[in-house]
Amino acid sequence: MSPLSGPDNNNAAIRFDIKEVGRVKTVREFIVLAENMPSCINGQIVAFDGGLRGIVMGFTEQDVQILILGPKAHIKAGDKVYSKAQSLYLPVGNAFVGRIVNALCEPVDGKGPIAADEEYLVFRDAPGIMDRSTVERTLESGTRIIDTIMPLALGQRQLLVGDRQTGKTTVTTDAIINQKGNNVICIYCSIGKPYSTLVKTISLFEEKGVFDYSLIVSGVASTSVGEQYLAPYTAAMLGEYFMLNGKDVLVVFDDLTRHAWIYRQISLLLNRAPGREAYPGDIFYLHSQLMERAAQMNPELGGGAMTFLPIVETLQGDVTGYIPTNLVSMTDGQIYFSTALFNKGIRPAIDVGLSVSRIGNRAQWSSMKGPSRSLRLEYLQYKELLQMTQLRTTELSKEAQKKLRRGEAITELLIQDKNNPVPMEQQVIDMYALNREVLDELPREEIRKFKNDFYRKIREWFPNLPQQLRDSKIIVDESIANLEEAIYFYFNQENKQ
Ligand code: ATP
Ligand code: MG
Repeated sequence: MSPLSGPDNNNAAIRFDIKEVGRVKTVREFIVLAENMPSCINGQIVAFDGGLRGIVMGFTEQDVQILILGPKAHIKAGDKVYSKAQSLYLPVGNAFVGRIVNALCEPVDGKGPIAADEEYLVFRDAPGIMDRSTVERTLESGTRIIDTIMPLALGQRQLLVGDRQTGKTTVTTDAIINQKGNNVICIYCSIGKPYSTLVKTISLFEEKGVFDYSLIVSGVASTSVGEQYLAPYTAAMLGEYFMLNGKDVLVVFDDLTRHAWIYRQISLLLNRAPGREAYPGDIFYLHSQLMERAAQMNPELGGGAMTFLPIVETLQGDVTGYIPTNLVSMTDGQIYFSTALFNKGIRPAIDVGLSVSRIGNRAQWSSMKGPSRSLRLEYLQYKELLQMTQLRTTELSKEAQKKLRRGEAITELLIQDKNNPVPMEQQVIDMYALNREVLDELPREEIRKFKNDFYRKIREWFPNLPQQLRDSKIIVDESIANLEEAIYFYFNQENKQ
């Protein structure tokens, strides 16, 4: 195949304006050193015989350092390198929804070519301050503890940080499942994770009908280093297409620790000086230029929003590692997952004390703001009290006992099974009941039962109530009357049958 038609890419052929033809000098793993390319610039795209592409990553005195984007296969010394006087553009379009693509936007799901609407710059600059407006619309994550205590907003960046196997991915896939019918396009980007993990996510998405409004960018561990490096930028670029067309987008990066590892590997092969934890000096820039691309566009520009949920893995719960601290500083808050909680069966294993959202409750439904205002404090006080009671043997005061029981009720209410996001109207209803203190005296099993049954009963008794809560986002007097009646019936009549 001629390099002019681009790689085996069924999308719109990449137009190729050859400016220079160089020669491959050496190939070092996934890095090519090429010579005779004096006018190359950083970030520029090149092609090899056979159509494989590469991206210029740096220079030595004589040579150009090129990262191969794809399997390195047959590149050898002496091959020609065609330089293209432009940065990397890739196809975007509505037809990408429902598909699985690699970091070069090529379909990898065996469902045939994807018709592109346009080509976008992969390393696009983030929208400027004048193009943005404040984030104030709710992103419904469907995870109770998040929606009540650390609510998310469309257009924000919230980091998920925690050790291995603590339920980080599950919270993000739950958030994606919960966007069904919410008009949010979801992009799940897998970076450096085993293919088998992605397969599980794909079958979950298929089972839950998620592909109607979602797509996956796969930079799994078996893809080339170049693709893994590119994958999050490609995901952000695809998201930008929808955002700039006035839609709302949710992008999950799973995970950026692997992305940092990949970049470290690339940098070491490029002979760049290693810095802290052997990462190159520009690793901060690498992630911050990505994170900056999340935005809530202003209404004149369509008013679309792109929300980022990046995941970062820690070792032994150490959030002070280089990559986690970098990411904490460039996002609007973090959700911290704890192995200890996970092992205790408190799942999602989110540590309320260490998790924050700097957006606060600005974007929360009004009906949720009231009940959840004191929740964080009550929960933290309960944790503290719990620790104290473990040390002391003396009798507890009535008040302390009450606080403990309430804390237990809150804990139990916030425990949630995986793959079962809870609609916001249900959360509002359950929080109303919690605030009426009707759950405090119940044993655990009863609360568990309540979580499943109460909402079902409400829909049976007052079929319009959930929709009314969703539409108005406040609890009007009539709803209060309905809720009171429901609580009365549920606790006095139903349970006695
Ligand atoms: P990794 O570090 O391997 O990416 P992770 O932090 O993304 O892991 P998950 O893969 O989401 O964690 O979850 C780890 C395991 O815990 C999975 O087997 C998952 O099914 C289970 N799990 C996650 N959340 C819950 C939950 N709320 N209830 C029950 N099980 C859960
Ligand atoms: Mg995971």
